[in-house]
Amino acid sequence: MTDTQTNEYPAKGYAAHAPDQPLEPFAFNRRGLRHDDVLIEISHCGICHSDLHTARNDWGGSTYPVVPGHEIVGHVRAVGEDVTGFAEGDRVAVGCMVDACLECDHCKQGLEQYCLNGMTGTYNGKDRRDGSITRGGYSDKIVVRKEFVLRIPEGMDMGAAAPLLCAGITTYSPLKQWKVGPGSKVAVVGLGGLGHMGVKLAAAMGAEVTVLTRTSDKMADARALGAKNILLSTDREAMKSAANSFDMILNTIPVPHPVAHYMPLLKVDCAQVLVGVIGTLPEMHSGHLLGRRILTGSGIGGIAETQEMLDFCAEKNILPEIEMIAMQDVNNAYDRMEKSDVRYRFVIDMETLA
Ligand SMILES: [Zn+2]
Ligand SMILES: [Zn+2]
Repeated sequence: MTDTQTNEYPAKGYAAHAPDQPLEPFAFNRRGLRHDDVLIEISHCGICHSDLHTARNDWGGSTYPVVPGHEIVGHVRAVGEDVTGFAEGDRVAVGCMVDACLECDHCKQGLEQYCLNGMTGTYNGKDRRDGSITRGGYSDKIVVRKEFVLRIPEGMDMGAAAPLLCAGITTYSPLKQWKVGPGSKVAVVGLGGLGHMGVKLAAAMGAEVTVLTRTSDKMADARALGAKNILLSTDREAMKSAANSFDMILNTIPVPHPVAHYMPLLKVDCAQVLVGVIGTLPEMHSGHLLGRRILTGSGIGGIAETQEMLDFCAEKNILPEIEMIAMQDVNNAYDRMEKSDVRYRFVIDMETLA
């Protein structure tokens, strides 16, 4: 069943057509506006590790062509007949999901990301109404159900804001969930796109932030982002003396690694939260959990919480550190991202798509 009210919109974008192919220009159509849709002209889109994994089918299940991108900002250009609250010219954003059932217990609690009927991903997801495969923000426009459109606060830089929609909310949500605030001691593992936002957000919430890293060369960067301390995970003595000292560990590393190594750092009833997808967990001695230490995970955040995060960042005046690129440079950006050669997030200037 479709309830499309207007003609389709011709769109330009970049797509991967096979796992081993670079992204290339791709013309397609966005659906016409349904009664509850918003048409957004995209100005910027951040580049997330998930984009690369999906383009290359690293997790399986990619449906080609894949148009990645779920850190989307832009301006409203048109709205469906039943849309109120959004008007042409509004500064808006779209994150990792574009739909959910909005009726299940989780959706009713504002946990649309954990919709019991499955949320709809911004790309490589299946549209709930017509079954088409969703296409993301490496594109000049997108049509999104109004409930999944966020607002960019007044005065916030559009380009720099883009990574908040995935990297920002993915770190903000667990920090809030584990009640990080003034007096909290938080360790952030990994200093990439997610980690650098974790440091900034935790510091803005009033926490004392420590960056856990394998090398000391990140010291100056960590401090510049708001960390007070750096702890070398390779330094046995330092790790030993830091035991039982953290209220939360925010682990942002996106590849397999020994998470058990960090558990002794936690105080009782405190948690290490994994926000990256690292596949099978390495073997871990259950003794690590007996101190009532918690190993858990977290995925993005709900829609209301995402808006709260955007407003918090505007109020505290914090934004991701970005490197702006042209759409044509996306494949090079993927190569550099794989080598962690970016501080800290690439953002595509969509004007270059013209
Ligand atoms: Zn992402
Ligand atoms: Zn639901």
